[in-house]
Amino acid sequence: MLIVEDNALNIKLFCDLLAAHGHQPEAVTDSRLALEAARAFRPELVITDIQLPHVSGLELIRLLRADAELKTVPIMAVTAYAGQGDEERVRGAGAQAYVSKPISVARFAATVDELLAESGAGATKAAVMDPGSSPG
Ligand code: MN
Repeated sequence: MLIVEDNALNIKLFCDLLAAHGHQPEAVTDSRLALEAARAFRPELVITDIQLPHVSGLELIRLLRADAELKTVPIMAVTAYAGQGDEERVRGAGAQAYVSKPISVARFAATVDELLAESGAGATKAAVMDPGSSPG
């Protein structure tokens, strides 16, 4: 999955957290690099900061949604601005989920899992990890 974040401490936090949950995070620090990276490796999820240099996270979300190959990739926005209307703006731009900073580790991880499950990316993994279930 692709992490777009310009703060080194947050990059480390998000990447460590995701790796601990069995994911393979790739981080970029700039929205301009994010589009290139997303086209190159087709992430199963994009996690983006909103306050970014050059191109804001909101604009990145709009650009991803306008891209024929990337318009269906789930997007989770993470932002320090928890002001009124922020979540609406983020969702209006096309993100599926919104997590405010400082993050709750549990909420961050749960939101990632929910988005992967909704998109179907997590379904295979869940089935493999649950060999005991037999639907009758
Ligand atoms: Mn930032």
